[in-house]
Amino acid sequence: MTIRTRFAPSPTGYLHIGGVRTALFNWLFARRHGGQFILRIDDTDEVRNLDAALDPILAGLTWLGIDWDEGPRVGGDFGPYFQSQRADHYAAAAAQLLASGHAYRDFATPEELDAERKEAQAAGRPFLYSRRFAAFDEATAEQFAGEGRRAVVRLKMPREGSLVLDDAVRGRVEFAWEREQDHVIQRADGSCLYHLATVVDDHEMQISHVIRAEEHLSNTPRQAFIAQSLGYRLPVYAHLPLVAEPGSRTKLSKRKLAQYLKNRDFAQVAEHGMRIAQQIGLQPEADTFNPVIVDFYRDVGYLPWAIDNYLTLLGWSLDDHTEFFSRQQLIDNFSLERVNSSPAGFDPKKLWAVQDHYMQQLSTAEKLELMLPFLIKAGLIPDPVPEPVRQTVATVIEVSGDRLKVAGDILTYADFFLVEEPALDPAAVAKRLAKAGTRPLLEAFIERLLAAEPYNAETLETALKEVVEVAGKKVGDLIHAVRVAATGKTVGPGLYDCLTILGREQSVTRLRRALPLCG
Ligand code: GLU
Repeated sequence: MTIRTRFAPSPTGYLHIGGVRTALFNWLFARRHGGQFILRIDDTDEVRNLDAALDPILAGLTWLGIDWDEGPRVGGDFGPYFQSQRADHYAAAAAQLLASGHAYRDFATPEELDAERKEAQAAGRPFLYSRRFAAFDEATAEQFAGEGRRAVVRLKMPREGSLVLDDAVRGRVEFAWEREQDHVIQRADGSCLYHLATVVDDHEMQISHVIRAEEHLSNTPRQAFIAQSLGYRLPVYAHLPLVAEPGSRTKLSKRKLAQYLKNRDFAQVAEHGMRIAQQIGLQPEADTFNPVIVDFYRDVGYLPWAIDNYLTLLGWSLDDHTEFFSRQQLIDNFSLERVNSSPAGFDPKKLWAVQDHYMQQLSTAEKLELMLPFLIKAGLIPDPVPEPVRQTVATVIEVSGDRLKVAGDILTYADFFLVEEPALDPAAVAKRLAKAGTRPLLEAFIERLLAAEPYNAETLETALKEVVEVAGKKVGDLIHAVRVAATGKTVGPGLYDCLTILGREQSVTRLRRALPLCG
């Protein structure tokens, strides 16, 4: 059997991190078995601007390296790959279900259905439609139509027995038919509903494995009923555990950002990203810029492979301890058998650690290529980047070492090297410069800077230590003050590296400029 899997997002305008996990597992499974991965757009509900709603999804998948063999932009033999362009296929399937007696035209009005529902409620039993206004033949249909009624098409669901499926993740699952409504598959205006569309598409696109999130498990009985009634072979179903909120079993949702921000790890990741976004002039809206959505990570400068690697661990494991995988290792080892069925909590701290791991594996040259665009976007360096500026940034990257966790961190670590007069953080000034006794120390250090030979990190370190020693003070009384005076803030590469990169003249100028602020 040829393995064919699909990811079928609705065009919502954003790519949810849980959606990526689904896409990734489908992609991995197809790649593992030399099959095809199909991208299909579930746009049965009308979308006002399809391109705008779709672009972030396609761009996000592309960024993450999840390539599709068939679908939008690449085409394929089983198209069209948009449900909005396949209405005639669905209408034909609805007609077939009517003809075979697996569906019926229902002429009940919403009020009549509501009355039945209330009756069931009052009697304390589950609602199951009486089929009072069902037409299984032409004569009945004509009679109802003559009364001015309009019909929808409903499935004639079995009312006894059960459906048993072997889910590739969850094992044996059983659904009692009596709990299934006679679901509508076609509206009065002839348009067909999503569940019918999905089943027809999966069949016509020859999907062998339907790998999707657990929230779709409850849709499976009606979809399997449709498929079997149409004479299709059922695909293998695999329902993946939910990508859950940090520390909970509820589905991660982009709308609950305010609640997630109460989680310390989540808030740290979100605020760090927000700072970077502001520095590069993005005006992020919480709606599309938050750690539940993929664009956040791309805009902030995470590595796509770190995201993929982390998301793979949300539900799958190779063994009990391996955490880092190359792309090829994952493809070679991925299996549905090792997908867990309990909800996988999204853990921003873990994602951060995976990102850190991959970032530290990059060479300075690789980091440079990733980071320069951030400095350009922030307006700190021109484009194209002049060679001496490249050199400076490369040195900053080098001396910053593992302090750079995402590409956007370069903004914090390099900005003060790239402007003549960096702004001084008022809080840092108050804390580190204003303290009584700082000024004479700084003045003495300036003298030593002017005399230091050779002008390098070691000499400067020795000089600073001597200045405090002579004054009978502690290193901490001067080193933080020098940092704030030279860089404007309290974080950055090692202080002596900073002074070396700035050079003697710039360092002295900056320190002198800070003297009036000292206590
Ligand atoms: N369009 C559905 C979704 O976005 C896909 C469901 C399925 O995979 O069958 O959730």
